[in-house]
Amino acid sequence: PIIPDYLAEALGDVEPDASGEPAAYIPELAAADPERLAAAFATVDGRVYGAGDVDVPFTIQSISKPFVYALALADRGFDPVLARVGVEPSGEAFNEISLESGSGRPLNPMINAGAITVHSLVGPERCAPADRVERVIRGLSAFAGRQLTVDRQVYASEMATAHRNLAIAHMLRSHDMLTEDARTVVEGYTEQCSVLVTTRDLALMAATLANRGVNPLSGETVVSETVVRQVLSVMFSCGMYDAAGDWATQVGIPAKSGVAGGLIGTLPGRIGIATFSPRLDRHGNSVRGVSLFERFSSDMGLHVMDVP
Ligand code: GLN
Repeated sequence: PIIPDYLAEALGDVEPDASGEPAAYIPELAAADPERLAAAFATVDGRVYGAGDVDVPFTIQSISKPFVYALALADRGFDPVLARVGVEPSGEAFNEISLESGSGRPLNPMINAGAITVHSLVGPERCAPADRVERVIRGLSAFAGRQLTVDRQVYASEMATAHRNLAIAHMLRSHDMLTEDARTVVEGYTEQCSVLVTTRDLALMAATLANRGVNPLSGETVVSETVVRQVLSVMFSCGMYDAAGDWATQVGIPAKSGVAGGLIGTLPGRIGIATFSPRLDRHGNSVRGVSLFERFSSDMGLHVMDVP
């Protein structure tokens, strides 16, 4: 079993690094066990390898953003989504209160302003908010290949302190980027972020993107190849927020991080990778997760710009 041994060894090497802090602005996340550590690989032909706490659930948070962007593109088509959310890297923090000057369009779907708008674009037009949340959970579940659920405590905890996301949503509403009640959209977006996943689930979700939108285990086509290309391109340029440039050069894998400590990467046609470790760096990316990806990329030559 070469791969599980390799993964266990990699985890052992990063384990002593206790730098960074778990996210504190969501009180329930601050209470998470900071020692949790896991890594998993899922190949496009359906093999899944893992080491560490691969079956411990945590909230998906911003890792939901590329998948829900995929659902919006699939449900509404490209033009209506692109009219509301751009694809330009912002080089800013995930929760920056910034919109494109003039149009008022959020810069990209990976920062909160864009992701809140994208949430409102899932499902048919004039979708009832509860049906939209259901469509989001069903869609995320299809990517993972099993039924996922929402962590109600994390949801309530984030909503109780969601002042900044509410401010962003009200600003979007003032520019007509949102056409409905701002609070209702933030509630739906926060439920989306509170979906529970394991590191294994995330590896399979990433592998579904690697496998042209088809879940390698269930065989279900979740979204089209065209949608996947759009999503991976945006992950590559914007997935790591204000660290996206460092990441693109040093790791070179389309990726997305979440404030609960999850991190995914997708190698088109090859594998999905996921890691979990709650302590975050100043960009809000998992410290030990970033180290693990740097190592995987160099050990296995995974940088997408390298000639295989
Ligand atoms: N729910 C979190 C927020 O909106 C997600 C942020 C993240 O994971 N970077 O603040």
